[in-house]
Amino acid sequence: MPGSVALIGGGPGAADLMTVRALRLLDQADVVYYDRLAPTDELAAWAPRARLVDVGKRPGHHRVPQEEINRLLVASARSGLRVVRLKGGDPFVFGRGSEEVSACRDAGIEVSVVPGITSAVSAPAAAGIPVTARGLSTSFTVITGHDPLSERALAALAHLGGTTVVLMGMGTLGHTAAGLVRHGMSPETPAGLVERGCTPEQRVCIAPLGRILLASAMAGIASPAVLVIGEVVRLAPGAEQRLRDLVQSA
Ligand code: SAH
Repeated sequence: MPGSVALIGGGPGAADLMTVRALRLLDQADVVYYDRLAPTDELAAWAPRARLVDVGKRPGHHRVPQEEINRLLVASARSGLRVVRLKGGDPFVFGRGSEEVSACRDAGIEVSVVPGITSAVSAPAAAGIPVTARGLSTSFTVITGHDPLSERALAALAHLGGTTVVLMGMGTLGHTAAGLVRHGMSPETPAGLVERGCTPEQRVCIAPLGRILLASAMAGIASPAVLVIGEVVRLAPGAEQRLRDLVQSA
């Protein structure tokens, strides 16, 4: 009997933001390959029969190369196991989930995808920031800051309106903020960073775009964090005060 692979989105890190389907599949799993950002505190209880394998990647240190993960998924399923690949957030939002699905399909392995709650929306929400709000923002753009944003992307975002959400954006925060301002976005545009959103360690840093790099350095904000830029940031509790203070001290 060939096994199968379930690619599961584990949400932003809180145990109770896992889906019912995710928990059901974990309960039946023989092996779980999990990531750094997936909720793992209760993994042993959720997957009581499974061997738990950490294939997590830390920024800059690719612990298990993607090709090796793909190979492990296929090999485990071929040996008849029910395989769960557990990722943070949603598997198709910057999670390289599509590559894992392709690897399984190419190998003739049955693969299913379980959506998860993406940090792109849930981390801002946990800080009181809705990514859209009637009258303030009619769109949100989610973009990766893993590599510095191109001039074209910066120019487009600077004039798009709506909300911009940057994932993996801490290493390029200065480039992003300065680039948007250079392309015409007001330095007074509200910006927020939500570190470890939806978890007990959550921290929020709010500042005008022109001062977000400094504010984040002073607060020591680190990855994983979501950067939100746009008028909706004003809706976070305490944001108006914070934005006023920073403008006055500028
Ligand atoms: N598939 C994931 C994103 C993977 S990319 C999702 O849908 O959420 C990794 C990036 O996600 C991090 O660099 C960070 O920007 C963001 N991230 C993931 N979990 C987070 C959390 N709990 N709080 C803030 N940002 C988070």
